[in-house]
Amino acid sequence: MGTIQPGSDQGSGYRRPNPGEFRGWVARMRRTFHVSKRVVATLGESDPGTVGQCWDDGDAYAIVVDAKLDFIHAMDTLIHEWAHLMCCDHDPESFDLHDDAYWIRFGAIYRKILE
Ligand SMILES: [Zn+2]
Repeated sequence: MGTIQPGSDQGSGYRRPNPGEFRGWVARMRRTFHVSKRVVATLGESDPGTVGQCWDDGDAYAIVVDAKLDFIHAMDTLIHEWAHLMCCDHDPESFDLHDDAYWIRFGAIYRKILE
């Protein structure tokens, strides 16, 4: 049984996620993939040339997922950024890396979602 459902209409992956649906995914991520700080994740406008960003905002982690993305890519971006937070929890110096340790965490999230 998966902990996160990829959406009830998988045949229409090009639709945009609505804010309530996005909040539901964020809540499931919080419950399933713990990090040491509160995570404030929003659909919004990411920097030019990016589809998502995350940063340490002091007492919380912040994630922005570009609101122009379709549902599947928005969820993939949320997972991508969440894996950065998990790496940062383990080693703050690794925040921006896409090294082997990063992709292992990224893959572990997908594994848990899909199992
Ligand atoms: Zn990244």
